[in-house]
Amino acid sequence: MAFSDSVRYKLSIETGGFCSNPDCRSLTGVFLPGAARSVGDGAHIVAENEDGPRGKSPLTPEQRAMESNGTWLCPTCHRIVDKTRPGDYSIDQLHRWKNEAKTWWIQNQGKQLQAIAQPDARALVARPSSASLLGAEAFLKAHQSLFNALQNLRWQQPPPFQREIPISDAVEHHIQQMSTSPKIGLNWTTQWNTTYHCDDKELLSHMQELIRCTDKICRTGPAIGVPPRMVDFKSPDILAQGIERYITVWKNFDSCLQAYKKWGQ
Ligand SMILES: [Zn+2]
Repeated sequence: MAFSDSVRYKLSIETGGFCSNPDCRSLTGVFLPGAARSVGDGAHIVAENEDGPRGKSPLTPEQRAMESNGTWLCPTCHRIVDKTRPGDYSIDQLHRWKNEAKTWWIQNQGKQLQAIAQPDARALVARPSSASLLGAEAFLKAHQSLFNALQNLRWQQPPPFQREIPISDAVEHHIQQMSTSPKIGLNWTTQWNTTYHCDDKELLSHMQELIRCTDKICRTGPAIGVPPRMVDFKSPDILAQGIERYITVWKNFDSCLQAYKKWGQ
């Protein structure tokens, strides 16, 4: 029986998206269903079938498809242990790889990631309770008061030209963090946890988009730093468009976050 998407996801996060062969440790990325982000494989320790590599075992087909019977490998190592030299790798040895890789990842989290220079490579690594998910959630929560205020504003007639909008201190803080740094998300994410594992591009792009919307709606002065709390638009249309855009982005971000969280469970 093949591994389910959920099992593949779990196998990939237990090693942080790295190959579990101790002599390899290639970064393959974490498996996320529907997203071509990982090149790694969930490898069977005991084969799916009796006649496969390491297939002689009392395990039932269901047990063979469980997370406990899998380990995360890069495509090269997967091919070697299953096809090129299957006889050289025992069930015990692959269990050892799996357990050692899990321990290795726990001991090296953060350090390992910071050693990877490219943000793109970092973006491949995730785990369910990652700082990025928590950060995104906190960020969205901080925006809640602004979101509510804008939703209320939407229904007021005539459209307000000058209006106090309650922007929480937390939102202001994020805006300052993000708008003063060229490396927007990376610096911001490290605020939450210096050993973060996930620099998720999609979540970060939602955050940046939300910041841009906020900036646009609240902008009367320089774009850098804390925006003024006073909305002062010359045209009601532009303000209305800005508000609509903000609400849409907020909702997209929220549903994206919920989807990621669901996969993290
Ligand atoms: Zn490998």
